[in-house]
Amino acid sequence: MKKLLILGAGYASLAFLRQLPKKIFNDFEVTLVSKWDYHYASVLLHEVAAGARESICYPIKEILPSNVEFVCDEILEIKKDGVIGKNSSYDYDYLVIGLGFEMDDFGITGVKEYAYGLVDFSTAIRLKDEIAKKLKELVQKKRERLNIVVCGAGFSGIELIASLSEELEVQAKKLDIQRDKISLTSIEAMPHILPMFSQSLASKAAEFLESIGVKMMLSSKILSLSSDALVIAKDNKELTIPSDVSIWTAGVKGNSVIEKSSFFVSNRSKVTVNKYLQPINQACDMQNIYVIGDCAGLMDESSGRFYAPTAQIAIKMGEYLAKAFEARIYGGNIKAFIYESNGTVCSLGRSNAIGEVVKKEIVGKKAIILKRLIEKKWLYKLFGILGIFKQ
Ligand SMILES: Cc1cc2nc3c(=O)[nH]c(=O)nc-3n(C[C@H](O)[C@H](O)[C@H](O)COP(=O)(O)OP(=O)(O)OC[C@H]3O[C@@H](n4cnc5c(N)ncnc54)[C@H](O)[C@@H]3O)c2cc1C
Repeated sequence: MKKLLILGAGYASLAFLRQLPKKIFNDFEVTLVSKWDYHYASVLLHEVAAGARESICYPIKEILPSNVEFVCDEILEIKKDGVIGKNSSYDYDYLVIGLGFEMDDFGITGVKEYAYGLVDFSTAIRLKDEIAKKLKELVQKKRERLNIVVCGAGFSGIELIASLSEELEVQAKKLDIQRDKISLTSIEAMPHILPMFSQSLASKAAEFLESIGVKMMLSSKILSLSSDALVIAKDNKELTIPSDVSIWTAGVKGNSVIEKSSFFVSNRSKVTVNKYLQPINQACDMQNIYVIGDCAGLMDESSGRFYAPTAQIAIKMGEYLAKAFEARIYGGNIKAFIYESNGTVCSLGRSNAIGEVVKKEIVGKKAIILKRLIEKKWLYKLFGILGIFKQ
């Protein structure tokens, strides 16, 4: 029997698996290999880190069709003739790569050593625990202040800082800490936040953040990080910003497994793919390999850049590939992947959000309700009707 091997259990891979027709599971030996034995909803990592939500994890075994073998292993390298994991090696006739994203430090000194990232469930818990530890030190008067700095005011940085501000308000009251002993700063190199939204929506978000106590530092380029401060360049001057917890949301790339796998042509740890989501490599035939989600570098012809990494495009790639794969195996017309965005909604805490949907701008309650519906839609795709009742 031919082998179909799938790497990663994120949005892209699971959307692919859930959309495959049943006959594939009879005709192929299907194996999913992933680092953890649960799927985590990456779009909610900021809520876990801020303490707004306990868990965003779902056991893989509850999601997969019974005839898919699941192996919990960390992939180290992908080769033409097989995949190398920490515990074992895996061969394949067809390979689907959905290994997601990692933090990109752009080579800035100190980021790897001192900054907290937000790339998977374990890093979200690590950040939450660090903030809890520092709050405890405030209560015990082992420290005078707590300065938290979020580097980067793109989508994930803004969702995180809004959540943090709200949850720290609650924590400060509970622990009897004066709120003004905790500072939250957003540092951004560009002159405005949230570049994917219109200026007017982004300004609304910035005003809201300032109203809930976030200090916005725009046009501020981060030069280096140390254990207790950041050095930035602003208005042609170098400034030192004290920071007890520095969080890096200033950039993501694909998975480092890609750059370690030398037979791929890659850019920022993403495999450059064609419109059929297959690696582009003149030197080697890769017709039996597909790359989907954040580790696929697919050119957006209208901008001349790779599509921005989002769960939305990852799901669409996975669902497209299930159909294309079926057509390839059983015969049929294989169409190219065409991406049309349904819009974007960025949460600003529990009860506020901004969004652009079908070319209309939405803000406030309506936007956050829509955001929650989008999250539920994903659980519906994973679990069917029962997904609607899952937290
Ligand atoms: C705070 C935050 C908020 C976001 N909000 C939104 C949003 O509102 N809307 C939106 O569309 N996008 C959002 N995103 C982006 C979105 O989360 C990603 O684009 C999406 O998760 C990509 O899906 P994926 O399937 O490519 O990867 P992932 O969902 O990250 O899945 C990757 C999988 O690969 C596994 N894996 C990784 N490395 C290895 C390895 N070496 N070996 C084995 N397994 C491995 C992981 O465990 C995981 O199962 C947000 C991201 C963040 C961080």
